[in-house]
Amino acid sequence: MSDEDHDSAPADAAPSEGQERPLRYVEKRRERLRVPLLLITPDIVHLAELAAALPAPERERFQRIFHVSACVGVLNPPETMQQWIEGYFGSVEAVREQRIVKVTNMVTMEGALFNDLRARRPMEARAVSDAVKEARTRIGDPFCWPEKATPEDVFGRVRGRHSITASNIAKYDGFHGLVVFHEHDPLAFDADEVADYVETAYRWALAAHEVDAEAQYFFFMWNCLWKAAASILHGHAQMTVTRGMHYAKVEALRRAALAYRQEWGCNYFDDLYAAHADLGLAFERDGVRVVAYLTPVKERETLLLADGLSPALKRALYDTLACFRDWMGVESFNVAMLMPPLAETDEDWSGFPVMVRAVDRGDPVNRTGDIGGMELYAANVIGTDPFFVAEQLKEAFLA
Ligand SMILES: [Zn+2]
Repeated sequence: MSDEDHDSAPADAAPSEGQERPLRYVEKRRERLRVPLLLITPDIVHLAELAAALPAPERERFQRIFHVSACVGVLNPPETMQQWIEGYFGSVEAVREQRIVKVTNMVTMEGALFNDLRARRPMEARAVSDAVKEARTRIGDPFCWPEKATPEDVFGRVRGRHSITASNIAKYDGFHGLVVFHEHDPLAFDADEVADYVETAYRWALAAHEVDAEAQYFFFMWNCLWKAAASILHGHAQMTVTRGMHYAKVEALRRAALAYRQEWGCNYFDDLYAAHADLGLAFERDGVRVVAYLTPVKERETLLLADGLSPALKRALYDTLACFRDWMGVESFNVAMLMPPLAETDEDWSGFPVMVRAVDRGDPVNRTGDIGGMELYAANVIGTDPFFVAEQLKEAFLA
């Protein structure tokens, strides 16, 4: 995604006499918009003003967590590009001056850069690809016969209503398992199946902890399709249980939340939710707090916060993924679930919720990676307006 706006010269601006570009099949090709670019300005562009307009206590809470700065990037296109720019972006003015909003979470030091031009394309249609459709139904992989084609753990297999566990053949950690879905197609999930996948993973973690009392930090992940780093397409999730301390990013979050409580005397996660809810970016259903995150790791990142691994949380995970899949055209996503350890530890985990993070990894037919140097080493470049994501989630959840 990061380079997409640099790579494709407009055909009508620079006619190349039928000369084919060598990377034609791997580069994203520019097509004219089927509908004109929305003339509305995405709300994220006004984030600083929206926060400044909050009543003082809410504004102060927002500012305890987020730093927002904005600027305008200016360019001068040549005459020969103008027709193409109008076709693609609606007007030359829209491109000439681009508003950029930089948001930094001062507690966790996560950062995002939003460009109004990118965020104005909320529903840019992703081509429904026959290759993806075909891949989704191509059965015959090892996960189609998990009991014959995958190893089991030292404690055997955990069986769910719609899934069975396997031991991962090349492990990330001492305990690294898979929830292999009975359903091959990774996008053909329903609410009962999603709940079962999470429950089965958790029961697997308890079984691992039973074998090794030191193994107490559970992590759940679901990588859907190759863009999200799934090497086998057949529907599956993964889980680990680690020892000694939690994984670096989870431990960093625990420490950041603890430091926040020590400095401000309040729970970071409660304030994080409230800061989003004050702006219309979060809402609650059945005790689960749903957040369209202001410093997302990548597109459409949604956070779910709950006091425990409740049925309402599992349902909220399904509704989030169904909203991604059915309303926003997402085919490839990552889900992560973080929670306090399975047993008491020396660290202070008080006030740390069960947290689910779900993120869109982009169009599976676009071979460009969505994470580049900016995301790895600077801040995340985001093309989706969190206000738009919040609207979609609200409609999907509260419908
Ligand atoms: Zn399969």
